[in-house]
Amino acid sequence: MYLAVKPDPEAFVNECFPNVEAKIVRAGGSMLCGWQLWEWPHVLVEAEFHAVWLSPDGGMVDITPKPHGETRILFVPDERRRYDGRVVDNVRMSLRDDQLIRHFIRVSEAIVRVMNRGERASQYGHVSVPAREIEPLLQAQDFLGRSLVSGLRDHDPCLCGSGGKYKRCHGRRLEPIFGL
Ligand SMILES: [Zn+2]
Repeated sequence: MYLAVKPDPEAFVNECFPNVEAKIVRAGGSMLCGWQLWEWPHVLVEAEFHAVWLSPDGGMVDITPKPHGETRILFVPDERRRYDGRVVDNVRMSLRDDQLIRHFIRVSEAIVRVMNRGERASQYGHVSVPAREIEPLLQAQDFLGRSLVSGLRDHDPCLCGSGGKYKRCHGRRLEPIFGL
């Protein structure tokens, strides 16, 4: 369903779980979890675990402000899921068969894994991660993101300017770091 965004004056951008918990303390109601869907046209669809507020009279309201000021979201309620304080990574599906997109998805998953490894899983807000662990992944994600924004496909010349296809150039070079 499309759901209107009605940012609560006390809510923080993207912090849906603490926002809804605080709203319940102030105004009653309850939390409904589900998935907020985002589309990067021709590239991928991403489902983000998300909470909205159920008001005491049963209205469903997204009280969390969006980073780019979106006024509505596409939301799939999932009543079986509860927020238990742990990070739930996005579910990402590519919209076409292309190694650049598969690699972008794999590096995005690896970043979330590294950010939440070990005791970092229970930390909230600003999490400090050693640069040597995260930098290569962030650089790869940036490189892949710029390639996709430029409209490149895996059989096109690599963004680095080597002249070789992505598959045979950075595609090969990046592959080993995704398993981190
Ligand atoms: Zn390259």
